[in-house]
Amino acid sequence: MKTAIIKLANLVGETGLFQFLTPGRLPVFMLHRVTDTDEGVAGAMSADTLRRYLAYLARRRYQVISMDQLQRMLCDGNSIPLRSVMFTIDDGFRDHFDVAARVFDEFGYPLNFFVITGLLDRRLWPWDDQISYALTEARQQQSEILLPGGERYRLDFSVQSLREITRDLRNTLKRQNQGHIYDWLRNELYPKLAVSYPGEIPEDYRPMTWDDARDLRARGHGVYPHTYSHRILSTLSPVEKEAEIRQSLERVTTELDYHPEVFAYPTGRRIDYDKTDIEILKSAGIRLAFNTVPDYVRAGQTPFELARFSLPDSMADFLQIVNRFEALKEKLHRQPELPVSLLPTR
Ligand SMILES: [Zn+2]
Repeated sequence: MKTAIIKLANLVGETGLFQFLTPGRLPVFMLHRVTDTDEGVAGAMSADTLRRYLAYLARRRYQVISMDQLQRMLCDGNSIPLRSVMFTIDDGFRDHFDVAARVFDEFGYPLNFFVITGLLDRRLWPWDDQISYALTEARQQQSEILLPGGERYRLDFSVQSLREITRDLRNTLKRQNQGHIYDWLRNELYPKLAVSYPGEIPEDYRPMTWDDARDLRARGHGVYPHTYSHRILSTLSPVEKEAEIRQSLERVTTELDYHPEVFAYPTGRRIDYDKTDIEILKSAGIRLAFNTVPDYVRAGQTPFELARFSLPDSMADFLQIVNRFEALKEKLHRQPELPVSLLPTR
C-alpha cells in the first residue's frame, strides 16, 4: 500500500506539482562513503547508484546548486528555484576524491566537501570510525570498559551483534564529554578489546590529500572545514570548541588559499552544537553552517542551522525528497483539517 502510494506520488511529482505547492525549499543531500563496487566500506553507496540519481536529475533538468548560489539565496535574498537540489559529502576520505567527485564531474555538477582537517593532516581518523574498527577487530567476546565519564560499560558479542554493539557504544559516547576521547580510545578501548592500536590510518579510512582538495576546487567543487578532530562540539569546553573550529578554518585557509565562509557540525543533530558554537563561527567569518537534521533548507531561515537529508539508498525515497512530496507531507501535517491519515509517514 505504502509503496503504491509513493510510486503514484512520484509519478505526479514528475509534473512539478509538489514543487509548485511548496516553493522556497531546497533539499540538500549528505553523502558518506562511495565505492566503485558494492563491496568494501560498510554502509557505502555504489558509484552506479549515485550515477542513477544524477542521471535522473540531468534528464529532468534539475538545477544542482553550488555553495555560492546558496549563499546568495540565503544572504542576499535570491529565490530558490523550484527544481533545484544540492549535494554535500562529509569527512574527507580518499573515496570522496577518487569516486564521488569523478561521478559528479561526469554530469558537470558541483559537490561540496566538508573535511576534518586533522584527518587530511593525517594526525587522526574519526573517533566514531575508530569505534567500528576496534569492535570489528575485537579479540575478546566480552569486556567491561570504563567510559570517559567513569561509568562501567559491558559489551558481550555472545548476546548482541557487532552492529548492535557498535551503534550502542557510539550513541553512548555521543553523550559523554569528548574532551579526551582520542586518548580514551588508545588507552582504554583498544587494550580492553585486545586490539593493537594502528600505527597508521587503516586502508578503509584513508583520507584524501590537500593536493586532492586543491584539485577539487580547481574543478569547481567546494571544500570547507568540518572541525579539526570531529569531536561533538556541545560536549567540549569553550576553549576546546574555539580550538576545534578556528584550527580547522586556519588549516583550510592556509592549504587552499581562501577564507572559508561555510562549515558543518560533526554528527550534526540539534543537541550536538549550541549557541556558543554559532557565536564562535560568526566571529570567525562563517556565514553558513549545516547540521544533519533531515529537512529542507528554507528561504529566509537562519543560515547557521541548515538542514540536510542523508542521501537515501532507494530511488523512490530520493525522488520523494527532490520532487518535494516530503515537503508537501510536512505542510499537510501542519494543517490538521486535511486528511493526512491517507498519506504515508516517514
Ligand atoms: Zn562528519
